[in-house]
Amino acid sequence: MLKVEHIGIAVKDLAVSIPLFEALLQTPCYKTEEVAGEKVNTAFFRQGETKIELVQGLESGSVISKYIDKRGEGMHHIAFEVADIHAEMQRLAAAGFTLLNAEPKEGADNKLVCFLHPKDTHGVLIELCMEKR
Ligand code: ZN
Repeated sequence: MLKVEHIGIAVKDLAVSIPLFEALLQTPCYKTEEVAGEKVNTAFFRQGETKIELVQGLESGSVISKYIDKRGEGMHHIAFEVADIHAEMQRLAAAGFTLLNAEPKEGADNKLVCFLHPKDTHGVLIELCMEKR
C-alpha cells in the first residue's frame, strides 16, 4: 500500500461539520460530492499528504446512517491508496481477509474502492482506493 490516502469520519450533518473541520484544520473544504451508489454525501479536506473525508448518510437506510444510529458520529474508516486495486484485492483475499465487494466500485473523489470486513482487522474498517485513470 502506498500511503494513508484519507481518514473517513461519519457525521450527521455536513452543514454543521464542514465549518467545524475548516476551523480545526485551517483549510477550506475543497470538494463535496454525493456518491449515489453508497447513499452518502461526502466532503474533503487536504491535510498534508492525507485527506479527511466527512461522510453523511443521505437517507435513514444508508449504511452510514445505520452506523451513526448504532455507534454515534466518529472515526469510520482508514483508506489506503494502492497502485493496483485488483492485484491488492487478490492478495488480501488470498491472505484470508474478507472483501466487502468482489469488484472495485465507484467511490468519491475519482476513486475505485474496495472495503475489507472489520472483523478481520480488529474492528477497523479498511478502504483500498486507487485513482481512476
Ligand atoms: Zn473513504
